[in-house]
Amino acid sequence: MLVLGTGTGVGKTWVTARLIERLRRDGLRVAARKPVQSFEPGERTDAEVLGCASAERPEDVCPSHRWYPLAMAPPMAAEALGRAAFRISDLIGELTWPDGVEVGFVEGVGGVRSPVAVDGDAVALADALRPDSVLLVAAAALGVINLVRLSAAAVDHPDPLVHLNLFDPTDDLHGRNRDWLVRDGLSVETSIEALGRRLSPRR
Ligand SMILES: [Mg+2]
Repeated sequence: MLVLGTGTGVGKTWVTARLIERLRRDGLRVAARKPVQSFEPGERTDAEVLGCASAERPEDVCPSHRWYPLAMAPPMAAEALGRAAFRISDLIGELTWPDGVEVGFVEGVGGVRSPVAVDGDAVALADALRPDSVLLVAAAALGVINLVRLSAAAVDHPDPLVHLNLFDPTDDLHGRNRDWLVRDGLSVETSIEALGRRLSPRR
């Protein structure tokens, strides 16, 4: 499953980590990959958060030479840090999985059109990876319909699963946003529990 976002900071990593924990509780063998990450030095990285959830080393989640300690899009961070440029095919070529994995998550970077490598964004990553499923994480609040429509249209996948993060069932707007997206024909979930049920064949 490729995890994409409608923007940066919408909760891709948090949602993926909670979903991994949920599936592991069901006994599924799950692994997480972050092909490349850039970050503010001193902050907990996505590879560390995901690895904590999947019981993997952060360097197995994201190879250590793909850690860029500068809060910019990864290919920009590489350039600014004087490190070598890399392409989408480099990232795909570095992806490896442990034996017996039943659900493998790949977290993208930023929003769907944010640069991932010097030659492509998350749409290009999805084209190269050909994931079985795409999870599009969005914030449930005002503006989400526009962002989900633009993002889902950009990603060439027949049935992306939309997760509305920080969904508050008592918030009338959140509920109406969800209903509107469902009327668009999208598959929409609003809780980790419901996402887990979709992915866990044992429940
Ligand atoms: Mg993240």
